[in-house]
Amino acid sequence: MDKFYKEVRIPEVKKILSEGSSWCPVKSPVCTKYVQGVHEILPRGRAGGIIKAHRKGNLVATCHACNGYISENSKWATEYGWLKHYDYNEQVQST
Ligand SMILES: [Zn+2]
Repeated sequence: MDKFYKEVRIPEVKKILSEGSSWCPVKSPVCTKYVQGVHEILPRGRAGGIIKAHRKGNLVATCHACNGYISENSKWATEYGWLKHYDYNEQVQST
């Protein structure tokens, strides 16, 4: 796990945060606009661990306020596509 953080997770998060798009795309009612961290659309708890959650398309750079808002308002977040409750890809693969 340490190796995963050191070689994959941390560099990728740094890359996402430095990719120029410094404006938070979530735009929740509490949005502070500035990107400050990385949100997982399919949370690691539901994805089956951080390694599975860490993949392209599942990570979005957001402000801290939106990240918190998403956790507290899952209905809103699901409606706007910022939160998924299960892995659609794995569902398709396993059938
Ligand atoms: Zn925001």
